[in-house]
Amino acid sequence: MTGASIWLDPLRSSIGEVDDSGWHDLHRLADDLSALCAAAPRLADSTARSQWLLQVRRDLASRGHRSPTGRAGLVWQTLAQFTAGFHDLDLRDATGTGHGAMILAEGTADAAVRWRTRVEAGQLVGIAATERHGGSRIQEMTTRAVLRRDGTWQITGEKCWVSRLIESTGFVVFFRDPDGRISAAVVDADQPHVEREVIEPFGLEGWSWGLLHLNQVPVDPAADLIGRPGDGLGVFRRHFAGFRPLVTATALGTAAGVHTLVTGALAAKARVGVLPRIRDNALVVLGRTHAEITAALLAAITTSRLAADEHPHADFAARVGKAAGVDTAVRAVADLAPLIGAAGFQRAHPVAKARADLTGLLYADGIHDSLYRSGGVSLLAAPTGGIAPTRADVATADHYDPAA
Ligand SMILES: Cc1cc2nc3c(=O)[nH]c(=O)nc-3n(C[C@H](O)[C@H](O)[C@H](O)COP(=O)(O)OP(=O)(O)OC[C@H]3O[C@@H](n4cnc5c(N)ncnc54)[C@H](O)[C@@H]3O)c2cc1C
Repeated sequence: MTGASIWLDPLRSSIGEVDDSGWHDLHRLADDLSALCAAAPRLADSTARSQWLLQVRRDLASRGHRSPTGRAGLVWQTLAQFTAGFHDLDLRDATGTGHGAMILAEGTADAAVRWRTRVEAGQLVGIAATERHGGSRIQEMTTRAVLRRDGTWQITGEKCWVSRLIESTGFVVFFRDPDGRISAAVVDADQPHVEREVIEPFGLEGWSWGLLHLNQVPVDPAADLIGRPGDGLGVFRRHFAGFRPLVTATALGTAAGVHTLVTGALAAKARVGVLPRIRDNALVVLGRTHAEITAALLAAITTSRLAADEHPHADFAARVGKAAGVDTAVRAVADLAPLIGAAGFQRAHPVAKARADLTGLLYADGIHDSLYRSGGVSLLAAPTGGIAPTRADVATADHYDPAA
């Protein structure tokens, strides 16, 4: 056993829905990622990195790395995300449907077929929800569609902090429809009505990031809508119930990768006599962070299982679990980093990169105070345990405080 498998294999008895063939596929994914990462371009060359990451996604897609169908799929993908994050947080889109899952689950039949082919060939879908007034207040969005004489719509507005900005071939955009309700639609990225403006991030530099300008983007509600008209917040909530545990598992994979690297470095120093013995403070950090990463990963797997089952607890568990799991990963890496000294502070060192990358996840896919707060709101709204439901057929708006 090597790499991520050292962390995952002991959990096997807790993950009954992934069968032997699923575990074999995970090991194959870990091996392929190791081989592909050996040819990664320098971090400083952001264009080459972005092209390489897209190529990795396409290569893995062509080698058949995808989750099994059915209930096991989301749980398997959670383990795949941990495996990808173990190598590098930039590999969070190496496999999986990502934000394209919204189109596949809730797009029109035509859109779902068209985008399944594209996503399975390795194309990426971005999400455009956040606006300048604040992503934590998605219900106040101003991007708006107007109705045209022929019944189609035109969307105008600006979205900010959008990840996979240049690499995505489509975006799921959230906007106010002509009736003033929040709806979602898929928009092709390469049309002239869409402009992209790149901003330099502090971490997570592998994929581009920035502003998406929508200038009278044509949308056919009969073909391009995701979910029912006016159910944009429902689409957002149902998607993130499944997506947030994937993000959490990726972050925890990155922390596990740092843990394995630091443990190996300390062991090597002791072996060759650079360290006469490993001090207790280092041993305590190694033991505690291992337990914390493993516990948070098991929680993320459970949350994925709830999402796959459309369990009423899934949305709540995804919100607070993302915040708690990513916080665990950030804390673990901060505690582990000093154990290998200043070498880990070099910009290109995997530990320095992991620290900067994980910082981005404190905001992306839900800023943490907002997620914890909305978790508290859900608990107070349903003190006897009936947390806000994720199933459209039983959803009630007054039990839900949407945190983007
Ligand atoms: C790396 C990265 C990738 C991202 N990718 C995407 C993407 O692909 N697509 C996308 O749409 N968005 C993306 N985002 C945006 C992300 O979803 C938002 O950053 C997040 O939703 C928080 O929104 P905000 O940054 O606008 O902060 P705000 O919503 O402005 O919140 C900032 C602070 O203000 C607090 N606050 C809010 N309301 C109040 C109040 N009434 N009183 C006091 N405090 C308040 C919040 O709790 C928070 O602490 C990304 C962000 C990052 C950093």
